[in-house]
Amino acid sequence: MTSEACATDASMRRVLRADLLDFTADPGFALPNEATGVRWRPDHLVLIEDGRIHAVQPAAQAVPPGWQHVIQEDHGGRLLMPGFIDTHVHCPQLDVIASFGTALLDWLNTYTFPAEKRYADPEVSRLGAQRFLSALWAHGTTSAVVFPTVHKVSAHALFEAAHAQGMRLITGKVLMDRHAPDGLRDDVAQAERDCIDLIDRWHDQGRQAFAVTVRFAPTSTPVQLAMAGLLCQTYPGTYMQTHVAENQDEVRWVAELFPDARSYLDVYDREGLLGPRAVLAHGIWLDTNDRAVLRERGAQIAHCPSSNLFLGSGLFDWVQAQREGVAVSLASDVGGGTSLSMLRNMQDAYKIQAMQGNRLTAWKALHAATLGAAQALGLAHEIGQIEPGHMADLTVWDWAHGPVAAHRDRLARDSHVTGHDALHERAFVWMTLGDERNLVETLIRGQTVFQSLLSSGFDPFSGPSISDPEPA
Ligand SMILES: [Zn+2]
Repeated sequence: MTSEACATDASMRRVLRADLLDFTADPGFALPNEATGVRWRPDHLVLIEDGRIHAVQPAAQAVPPGWQHVIQEDHGGRLLMPGFIDTHVHCPQLDVIASFGTALLDWLNTYTFPAEKRYADPEVSRLGAQRFLSALWAHGTTSAVVFPTVHKVSAHALFEAAHAQGMRLITGKVLMDRHAPDGLRDDVAQAERDCIDLIDRWHDQGRQAFAVTVRFAPTSTPVQLAMAGLLCQTYPGTYMQTHVAENQDEVRWVAELFPDARSYLDVYDREGLLGPRAVLAHGIWLDTNDRAVLRERGAQIAHCPSSNLFLGSGLFDWVQAQREGVAVSLASDVGGGTSLSMLRNMQDAYKIQAMQGNRLTAWKALHAATLGAAQALGLAHEIGQIEPGHMADLTVWDWAHGPVAAHRDRLARDSHVTGHDALHERAFVWMTLGDERNLVETLIRGQTVFQSLLSSGFDPFSGPSISDPEPA
């Protein structure tokens, strides 16, 4: 079938045939042969109607009455998964991804803040949002928790672009009223008005959700943090996103700025910012008390592997967080991170655990980027699984791209290990050698938003949103 035939009508029925992989529970850090919660359904059909998954059944079984006329889109031998959920990523930082030579605080001042200033321009924000969402889809990500900039218009542009496609998106104008250059600071009263305007306009509008977005403790005054906490209390359905304990210099700075706080995390907790809808990026330099607070509040850590390595921030101990009951999802943190690909971030996550003597299975990593994140965000009824009633946010993948991966995949496929262990070998090879080049197609709400050039000639990067130069 062609992209035109499927990309226009949400009420249209579609049937996809592939090997389905998703999760029914957290496999934890169990070894592959002991892991539970892995659901593998080879050669199945996914029936899609009105943007949702209508049914899942073996391909050999007859389709229900009324579905016989729907042409099956045959992805036989390919992998079909729920779309990935990136729980921490910065839209404007596509402009500074892969910037040389700095750690967090210098990186912000040298690269990020100058780039973010441009988003005061509505046209820059509009083009930036479109480019960013197209790029997420081209990497297999169908839901995201996103930082725009301090400018209200940058959040509005993201909401507008995501809403137009029916994409699940969580964002909100960044709060920062100190320790940032001219053009990137708000003030408490205006920031509060902007947030309330955005909540009124966008929160719970379709699949859009507002997040109270504190950049990080150093860039907000205590008065602004108190205002942010009040917003969380006043609008209980909203999310909260921020950064915490990413880098040791940052932790020391926060201790100087807030001498009466027990810890960095406590700066947020005492203002009422931590709850089940709080997403805190990094959390590398926390202590046991902090992890207990996160567990009690039901807040999650967005682990950002490629960013932590690229900026030299530190090694997040995922096993310890799991042992102490903290929910952990996976995130790209572009532009500190070096790729929007969740697979590439899983590769870095594996290495970060290996440096600490831990072993991250493909099951644990893939769960964290699908069902695990959906549950932590309170959205498991909608995303994260291939399940009737869920939104048809799906990705289709080739097992291998290029001769080395094809060779290795063939050996894994033909290996004599049995059961989930054999499947894990293949999945781990895919996770470790794969990236966005393995992606065949991305669906959001049952509509194709990305199709690989190789499979169709459909070019998501064509058109003005991607290629137009922007004003300096
Ligand atoms: Zn970040």
